[in-house]
Amino acid sequence: MKQAPKTSRRDFIRKSSVLAGALAVSPAILSAACLQPGKKLGIALVGLGGYAGGQLAPALQQTKNCYLAGIVTGTPSKATEWAAKYNIPQKNIYNYQTFDSIADNPDIDIIYVVLPVSMHKEYTIRAARAGKHVICEKPMALNAADCREMIAACKKANRLLSIGYRLHFEPHTQEVMRLGQKQILGKVTEIATGNGFKYTGDPNAWRLKKALAGGGGLMDMGIYAIQGARYTLGQEPLAVRATQEKTRPELFSEVDETVFWELKFPGGQKVTGKSSYNNNWGFLRAKADKGSFELEPAYGYDGLDGKVNGKPMNIPNINQQAAQMDDFATCVRLGKQSRVPGEEGEKDMKVIDAIYRSLDSGKWENIG
Ligand code: NAD
Repeated sequence: MKQAPKTSRRDFIRKSSVLAGALAVSPAILSAACLQPGKKLGIALVGLGGYAGGQLAPALQQTKNCYLAGIVTGTPSKATEWAAKYNIPQKNIYNYQTFDSIADNPDIDIIYVVLPVSMHKEYTIRAARAGKHVICEKPMALNAADCREMIAACKKANRLLSIGYRLHFEPHTQEVMRLGQKQILGKVTEIATGNGFKYTGDPNAWRLKKALAGGGGLMDMGIYAIQGARYTLGQEPLAVRATQEKTRPELFSEVDETVFWELKFPGGQKVTGKSSYNNNWGFLRAKADKGSFELEPAYGYDGLDGKVNGKPMNIPNINQQAAQMDDFATCVRLGKQSRVPGEEGEKDMKVIDAIYRSLDSGKWENIG
């Protein structure tokens, strides 16, 4: 059988970046501030919750191309605390009422939306209209139709949009992409993947409210497993069939707890996935014609680990969020599409939409 040419890990990463760069956007996208050589771009975080405070702000102390320039919060005590901790000037602090006036602030080049899912669309669109480039956290929106509105609004404003898909900048994940997409061990024939955690948090949190979160474990954790299959194969799934299980229906009255799915890909591979707010999962296992590879943990940010043909990958871990934000700052500076643009977020949401349709119908659903 004809074998795909061998590609080194470094080659693959370089070529992927070049490919993303080929999707260059209009030169008008370069703002005057971005053209100042050597200037770090200013990022404003919108929503100072667990992820912004626990991961993004610390990562912004390690970034080379961007820095934490501003914040948007509805809680005055957080504004005071963050201003002192991160040396943020008063003129770069906004609340949800003053948000749009960020348009007049040349310190802010990029707005990073780290809010509950139902607010992603509104704040991404308002950020783009304020003339800022945008990073929006995952899942991109409540559904794929909203993703399309967000993409269109950013295009209209001639601003770049990226999704907080940190794993695309993570070396174990890049190795899995190379092994799978370049068929280094032959064609991938089977993928099993799952992501989840046992939810023991606040029973009134936004994550458990359908209107705010759009769904439960599938939206929050399953999105990684869907992506894992997509980036291992480098293909888009055609159809999906899903089932679900609820062991704590009182807690998960509005959103899904555990979901299981099968994906049909054009290559005919056997691909299964699962997501949960009741099980600590985080793995991706792939079988190929001439071997196997796997990651576990596969999707977190506290260190990934992997094996190829049962032997350790021996790849160092990095600060994923710092790499992700530095890459976007470079994209903004060069006027080049991110390797994780809004369209990537929309692709995952199309699969999630189809999984929810399948949970209702009990049948295979096409991922249009
Ligand atoms: P969180 O609940 O800790 O923070 C949400 C923030 O939004 C809070 O500061 C809250 O005050 C603010 N907020 C504003 N209006 C609100 C409203 N009406 N209801 C509730 N909160 C409101 O959540 P989080 O864990 O920081 O998640 C935020 C986003 O980041 C989500 O989209 C989530 O999926 C994403 N996230 C991504 C990762 C990752 O690894 N990429 C990890 C965690 C969270």
